[in-house]
Amino acid sequence: MRFPAIKPIAALGLTVLLVQPPVYDIVITNARVVDGTGASWYRGEVALKGDTIVEVATRVSGTALRIIDAGGQVVAPGFVDTHTHARRGIFEVPTADNYVRQGVTTLIEGPDGGSPVPLAPFLEKLAALQKSVNIGSFIGQGSIRSAVIGDADRQATPEEIQKMQGLVEQGMKDGAFGMSTGLFYVPGTFTPTTEVIELAKVAARYGGIHTSHQRDDASKVLDSVRETIAIGEGGGLPTQVTHHKIIGRANWGRAVDTLKLIDDARARGVDVTSDQYPYTASSTSVGSALIPAWALEGGRQQVRARLEDPATRARVKDGAVIMIRDERGGGDPKNVQLASCGFDPALAGKTLADVTKMRGMEVTIENAAEATLWIVEQGGCQGVFHAMSEDDVDRIIRHAATMIASDGEIPIFGRANPHPRSYGTFARVLAVYVRDQRTLTLEDAVRKMTSFPAARMRIMDRGILRPGMKADLTIFDPATVRDTATFEKPHSYATGFSHVIVNGVAVFENGAMTTARPGVVLYGAGKSK
Ligand SMILES: [Zn+2]
Repeated sequence: MRFPAIKPIAALGLTVLLVQPPVYDIVITNARVVDGTGASWYRGEVALKGDTIVEVATRVSGTALRIIDAGGQVVAPGFVDTHTHARRGIFEVPTADNYVRQGVTTLIEGPDGGSPVPLAPFLEKLAALQKSVNIGSFIGQGSIRSAVIGDADRQATPEEIQKMQGLVEQGMKDGAFGMSTGLFYVPGTFTPTTEVIELAKVAARYGGIHTSHQRDDASKVLDSVRETIAIGEGGGLPTQVTHHKIIGRANWGRAVDTLKLIDDARARGVDVTSDQYPYTASSTSVGSALIPAWALEGGRQQVRARLEDPATRARVKDGAVIMIRDERGGGDPKNVQLASCGFDPALAGKTLADVTKMRGMEVTIENAAEATLWIVEQGGCQGVFHAMSEDDVDRIIRHAATMIASDGEIPIFGRANPHPRSYGTFARVLAVYVRDQRTLTLEDAVRKMTSFPAARMRIMDRGILRPGMKADLTIFDPATVRDTATFEKPHSYATGFSHVIVNGVAVFENGAMTTARPGVVLYGAGKSK
């Protein structure tokens, strides 16, 4: 009998003890092992003890407290998501069901230039939280700039740069994985590249990376990729084009050129990579997406004052018309869907065309721009913007230097109308891009979700199924795995996953979350002891 139950050892001599077989906490049998490296799967078994993988072999010998028969399914490392907005929800839903149920075991927060400043209290609060998943964070350049000079459109003084560098240093010592920028957003958009580089140099000293929500993913996307590369080169650190995408019909096809920029930079020795979510719609605030950045300077009061002045309002509206026609608006008010609106929750799910009609106007781009200004005046909404092409998504996902990241959050189940990426990103890649379209091999897709993002974050003890690595694993059926969340019905869990294990403990099995909360906070290399 393999894996006999453990018998107490009574009064045995040393020689007998030496021949006792190892005792494992969990052995996963009858699995197709996709080890995270990209290597072809092999039939095998994985043994866990405590929070660690202790054996991976075609046949593991020893005793086990528990055997999980994978029934021929895939066992893979737990997925590592390097771009999440998990602080939207982690304290309300510390089980992070939407992520766990698609195999994700590690979430990285603080993207797009936005993080708590200072970082330490946030990480301490996370450490005290009983949670199902591992979590870490970047320090955000936008939040730092906001703390030091507010949301003003001006250059920083040398003293202010020093102050901001001090805050980056503190963030890295607190355990950030690097510095994120959101040069598309206020106040990131007011930051010259040279200033970002001065801050990036500090993150570099502590082993951090730079990840950028770029200044422009539409008509100026090539310049933006050049800037992301320049920040890596000038700052002396790895740099990442996060949620790599091409916005606006007029720009479709430019992924050919953005990927060439990445290839050329890599060829000359610049450490640049990208990540992507597998959807042709993006999500952010309606204001950021459809109003020119200059009009958003200084916060809500100043924005309202601008919109009350007829001449300025007309200029803002002109900008909005262009952004609806050529950029995130996708050329049609129907392509903008509201995700959540603080001032009127009933608007969630409605399109900008619906709101235009509700405001008593005919649906034209001009009138939709007027409705957009009204939304911003009311306090704004989060939106979903259908403005990308499947061909570009496909080109980017195929690229060897692209990893998978959701850009999602932890929704309250059933509340608002969020982008389905929060529930579906990883399952969708496995279903659509591996099984249905054969764009990626199973092994390469898993690599893009495990060893690649883990190594990018310098998390060297996760992301590969090897003895000595932390026991984060997922078991799924490659024939049935599927995202079920859609833009119309986003609150729907992925299917096809049977087990998710975090630090050696099952957090999901038999179709349900367990009561275990084994997640830990992960820290970057710069963390002071
Ligand atoms: Zn972003």
